[in-house]
Amino acid sequence: MLKKFLPNEFVKDVFHIKAEQLKERGIKGIITDLDNTLVAWDRPDATPEIIEWLEGMQQAGIRVTIVSNNNELRVKAFSEPIQMPFISKANKPLGTAFRRAVKLMGTKKEETVVIGDQLLTDIFGGNRQGLHTILVIPVATSDAKITTFNRNLESFIMERLRRRGLIYWEE
Ligand SMILES: [Mg+2]
Repeated sequence: MLKKFLPNEFVKDVFHIKAEQLKERGIKGIITDLDNTLVAWDRPDATPEIIEWLEGMQQAGIRVTIVSNNNELRVKAFSEPIQMPFISKANKPLGTAFRRAVKLMGTKKEETVVIGDQLLTDIFGGNRQGLHTILVIPVATSDAKITTFNRNLESFIMERLRRRGLIYWEE
């Protein structure tokens, strides 16, 4: 059961995910979370570094879709100015939005990775769909959108995984 929450990879932030490396592994699509994965949850727009990272992916022929549980107003305001396809109110970890994103990008499951900062939504949801999952450390430590219950459950799972030696962070 616990293994369903275990990401395939851990990285410090999205900048440690390189377009060339993904390409070499045959990855053609990225489903990425928004809040605390690309930018801090309370930052409305993309940073120049994120724009550059996204452009790098596109130049390598890798499609990106932003899939967020946040509302349309927030996700649209972030995604539209940088012309990124997005799905808001995604209801992760439920499967619908993941499947829609894969269909939207025209990729196969094995060619698609999921990036996110939360085990309970991004990683669990991606794993359930049989997608390769990559966990990042949350950009901001305070997140008003995450409930205390979720945060506690997340720490509990993380601690269990760590104790079993299943978790390590790549520098
Ligand atoms: Mg997030």
